[in-house]
Amino acid sequence: MTTPDTAIVWLRRDLRLADQPALHAATQRHARVLPLYLHAPEEEAPWAPGAASRWWLHHSLSCLGERLAALGSPLLIRRGPSLEALRTLVRETGAGAVYWTRLYEPAALARDRAVKEALRADGLLAESFNAALLHEPWELKTGAGEPYRVFTPFWRNAEARLDHLPAPLPAPEHLRPPATSLRGLALAELELLPRIPWDQGFHPLWTPGEPDARRRLEQFTADAIGRYTTQRDQPAASATSGLSPHLHFGELSPRSALVAAREAARAASPGWLASAEHFVRELGWREFSHHLLFHYPHTTDAPMHERFAAFPWRAPEDYAADLAAWQRGRTGIPIVDAGLRELWDTGWMHNRVRMICASLLTKNLLIPWQEGARWFWDTLVDASLPQNSLGWQWTAGCGADAAPYFRIFNPVLQGEKFDPEGNYTRHWLPELAKLPDKFLHRPWEAPSEIRRAAGIGLDSVYAKPIVDLGRSRDRALAAYARIKAVN
Ligand SMILES: Cc1cc2nc3c(=O)[nH]c(=O)nc-3n(C[C@H](O)[C@H](O)[C@H](O)COP(=O)(O)OP(=O)(O)OC[C@H]3O[C@@H](n4cnc5c(N)ncnc54)[C@H](O)[C@@H]3O)c2cc1C
Repeated sequence: MTTPDTAIVWLRRDLRLADQPALHAATQRHARVLPLYLHAPEEEAPWAPGAASRWWLHHSLSCLGERLAALGSPLLIRRGPSLEALRTLVRETGAGAVYWTRLYEPAALARDRAVKEALRADGLLAESFNAALLHEPWELKTGAGEPYRVFTPFWRNAEARLDHLPAPLPAPEHLRPPATSLRGLALAELELLPRIPWDQGFHPLWTPGEPDARRRLEQFTADAIGRYTTQRDQPAASATSGLSPHLHFGELSPRSALVAAREAARAASPGWLASAEHFVRELGWREFSHHLLFHYPHTTDAPMHERFAAFPWRAPEDYAADLAAWQRGRTGIPIVDAGLRELWDTGWMHNRVRMICASLLTKNLLIPWQEGARWFWDTLVDASLPQNSLGWQWTAGCGADAAPYFRIFNPVLQGEKFDPEGNYTRHWLPELAKLPDKFLHRPWEAPSEIRRAAGIGLDSVYAKPIVDLGRSRDRALAAYARIKAVN
């Protein structure tokens, strides 16, 4: 069989040129390459990208489009259904091959399997590659041949194989476009940007696209990685990489992040080695979340531990007002409100604060974790189905290897421990700026003259939070005791 002249590279969440195995295979094997983006959010239902993700996607596609055009083969944008659109393009271009990199969410997996089968039945070369993970979810198994449910043994197995990973692939230097001229959509026609411009706070912080992913990685490995272990839990310290949206949209491969972290640590002081390995281990949590979702696809909506199906959450009509207060960052609990306002303003929230906010919602407010997961899904620029599901189930206590349900974060103590000088909290809650450190994380305990001097009136949520932390803790433990007694 002769090699077809033209290959289509179907881009999804692998929006980069370097270490992009589908693009690499196409350029190595075929004379002409057509980079394609198909817009088909309905195929990802019920977890089609949320508003913040769509914002990111718009800018990432714009950046990639410019870079592909500079290489010689512009990005073609069309609408789905994906299979139909691919078949039409095969007819228009005479392409004999379609390549893509794998996604692991249940809806995308089912779609991609069907597309591969249909294209192969049409006589085409249809091939998918791993670009998103260090290891495929099916490669790692327990001694008994089962998928993992606990992180430590999973990571022990995964980590031992890291030295055998192939080196990252180079970016193509030139692309030859298909021989036919093709009509596509303008990016703006996808209407990915918000109609109400709530995204002003995103622009100063984020520049979607591969070049900025690289810049962030370089900055992180030149400095913050050395203090990752000691400061990664402090939201004011800027000690984490901020790479999560870039990794999610595939603007950077985890393999490139791994290599850069290890090289930087080797070149720097020995003290950095352990800190860099700690960062690599967090990439391991990302891997673990994909492993879990692949093997337990129901965990996007249902608890991993079945006994939690009977958990006595409050009813929607009882919790609606509290959920709205939590979403808007108006719970009256400073570290929680700071986190939720950071999320709304920037599309991102620090990991420690994500855990504190999720704990307040699921434990103190007894609101189902799925409500929080949906809010994060819509507002996070790094919203990732495997990681978001794992994060929520972990905090709610119903997931694989989760925090035990009875261990309930005290947001006041968490705030005092991880934001002791209040730099993070004061930044996001300027109305508390004048409160002395002693009361910053517990304003309701401040004597009235101190509250008055700080400008906190009696009608402020900071005079009386929406939930009593002690009583709600007892209520959560009692709810947990009920499912424990039943199961
Ligand atoms: C309730 C909840 C929801 C979450 N939802 C998401 C989500 O939708 N998308 C997302 O990318 N992360 C999610 N996380 C995990 C974590 O909070 C973010 O990955 C992290 O804050 C991103 O910041 P960073 O890139 O600076 O991380 P770094 O500390 O620099 O870590 C490097 C990378 O490792 C991965 N990572 C780090 N911590 C975790 C973790 N605990 N679980 C899984 N992967 C991790 C991320 O890809 C991250 O970019 C969630 C955590 C919780 C508690």
